[in-house]
Amino acid sequence: MILFAPKEIDSREARTAITPITAKRLVDKGIDVHVEESIGELSNYSDNEYTEVGANLITDRSKALSDADIIFRVRKPPVDEIKKTKSGCIHLSFLDPFNDSELLQLMASQGITSISLEMIPRTTLAQKMDALSSQANITGYTSVIYAAEKLDKVLPMMMTPAGTISPAKFFIIGIGVAGLQAIATAKRLGARVTAFDVRQEALEQAESLGAKALRIDLGEDSKEEGQVYAKELTQEQLEKQREAQAKVCEDSDVVITTAKVFGRRSPILVKSDVIGRMKHGSIIVDLAAETGGNVEGTEIDNEIVTDNGVRIVGLSNFESMAAHHASQVFSANLGSFIEHFWDEDEKKINLNLGDEILAGCVLTNNGKIVHEKFINS
Ligand code: NAD
Repeated sequence: MILFAPKEIDSREARTAITPITAKRLVDKGIDVHVEESIGELSNYSDNEYTEVGANLITDRSKALSDADIIFRVRKPPVDEIKKTKSGCIHLSFLDPFNDSELLQLMASQGITSISLEMIPRTTLAQKMDALSSQANITGYTSVIYAAEKLDKVLPMMMTPAGTISPAKFFIIGIGVAGLQAIATAKRLGARVTAFDVRQEALEQAESLGAKALRIDLGEDSKEEGQVYAKELTQEQLEKQREAQAKVCEDSDVVITTAKVFGRRSPILVKSDVIGRMKHGSIIVDLAAETGGNVEGTEIDNEIVTDNGVRIVGLSNFESMAAHHASQVFSANLGSFIEHFWDEDEKKINLNLGDEILAGCVLTNNGKIVHEKFINS
């Protein structure tokens, strides 16, 4: 079996889908691992490290795409490269399936078996393959470091002969994987942290990290029985939430928003009137920017400074700000996927679509869209 990992071509992307450690794991299984030359250039994995573990360096990207039985990527494939991929190839990457149905149609008609990393079930068994989590954890960290660097204040309290400096105030909205890491990072740096989520259990987790939980009575816990994801709030609930949060936003030096609703546009949680009352020099990092944003006025892949001096950051490459480690864990997720479904006797991947994990994340197979959520897309 040939596995090929092309170099990412999106200019925002510094990660690689395969690191030398994962390449070794796969070479040891008997897989012929091909990586594009200088694949790890931006994440500091050298070509030598790949060849030392038995991977082959590739210069002809088009040929490698058409030879591969398995392809690893971080971002979704460009249309012209889908057309070069051979029928029956297993393709693993983020695919943005809720917003890009054309891509799915194209992958299906090319005969590609596409695995969407967004759709890997959030179960204990699949945890080691969960790239949404491994990457959200990194963005939670880098968003705090980024904000700390832009802020013209120190984060911890400092008691000096010249007087006392108060700790910076952070407000984290959305306490999923990214939010929890943002809280932990800001606390480690000495900031005072307040946090809010619609899920009660998330508020308790925030408190266990030393944050103050903002409690807002929205009438019910916004999580369905047996689900990990939050439900979409009603317009009245959102209004109530925005109202209750306003004072904390106005008082904060940094607001980091991470509130997403799976498969839907992210809710607007911080509106312009509140931003207009925030402090000059304060910073909002909108980690939901790619799914529509939690903040009114966020511009994707841009930073704007409002008339009253609030910086709104809508960058979508927070993972790439720690590309070495983001790649390490991303690549480990993909390696674990292959190992989990590897048939040692046959020396190939055994994809039985009745499997619980595969039923969740295989979107196209045998020329068709096979995932029930996207069949009619
Ligand atoms: P996410 O990125 O989908 O959303 C981030 C957070 O935003 C969530 O905590 C969500 O509750 C919150 N949110 C939604 N609407 C909001 C609103 N109006 N105001 C404030 N917050 C709002 O979440 P995620 O990080 O992918 O995690 C989703 C869930 O999956 C969590 O419960 C997490 O613990 C769970 N999870 C489970 C596993 C596993 O079991 N293997 C792995 C990863 C995550």
